[in-house]
Amino acid sequence: MSASVIVTIDGPAGTGKSSAAAALSQRLGFDMLDTGAMYRAVALLAIERGVSENDGAGLARVMDASHIDVDFSSRPPAITLDGRDVGQRIRQVDITGIVSRIASHHEVRVRMVDAQRAVAAMHARLITEGRDQGTVVFPTAALRIWLDARPETRARRRADELTASGVAVEFATVLADIIARDASDRGRAEGPLACPVGAVCLDTSDLSFAEVVDELERAVRARLPCLSVGCGCGGSR
Ligand code: C5P
Repeated sequence: MSASVIVTIDGPAGTGKSSAAAALSQRLGFDMLDTGAMYRAVALLAIERGVSENDGAGLARVMDASHIDVDFSSRPPAITLDGRDVGQRIRQVDITGIVSRIASHHEVRVRMVDAQRAVAAMHARLITEGRDQGTVVFPTAALRIWLDARPETRARRRADELTASGVAVEFATVLADIIARDASDRGRAEGPLACPVGAVCLDTSDLSFAEVVDELERAVRARLPCLSVGCGCGGSR
């Protein structure tokens, strides 16, 4: 297969990365990778195997003895842990509470980065979203996107999502979690949350979801005019 055409979307929690990546991938015929779900699956593994979120070596051991995979046969792709679909389970609050700490370990990140690059090698066109996709994992991606929004707006969106899914939450708790997770993700030594060099930056605070997706589609088509004729050169012509 020729080199994959990769679009990265990075940004803090609640900027709408996953939903925007899903809609954009459908519009443009790309596959989509939610790398936050991969880290969340490691957090679930830690809980199930009784490994502390502070034990990098222990996390590496259980990761090496397990399979975290992305099943691209469903839309959106399903995240599996040893063959079980854990897509619902990994959204629960106990996972959200420890995932950033889990993701801070070198042993965890090197395994995730390798796994994400292996996924990309299998897909001709991939939109991948997370915290370090454009900075560390795919710094030469055809297009790197940075999404941001005010913390209060992000917390309101998260609280509404959780309420809609039947989980009772306090807005203040969600806001505090988002602020704490941002600080932890930005402050870690390896793969910190940061805007990639040369990224297209979009603040989604005052935009509707449709406006965000339209804007991103324009950015991708401007960078990859060949998409329309399906040549897949990755913008190199
Ligand atoms: O995107 P989501 O909120 O599901 O991500 C959960 C957590 O996984 C983030 O707060 C971050 O700590 C970690 N993460 C990461 N690198 C990525 C994606 C997610 O460290 N590429």
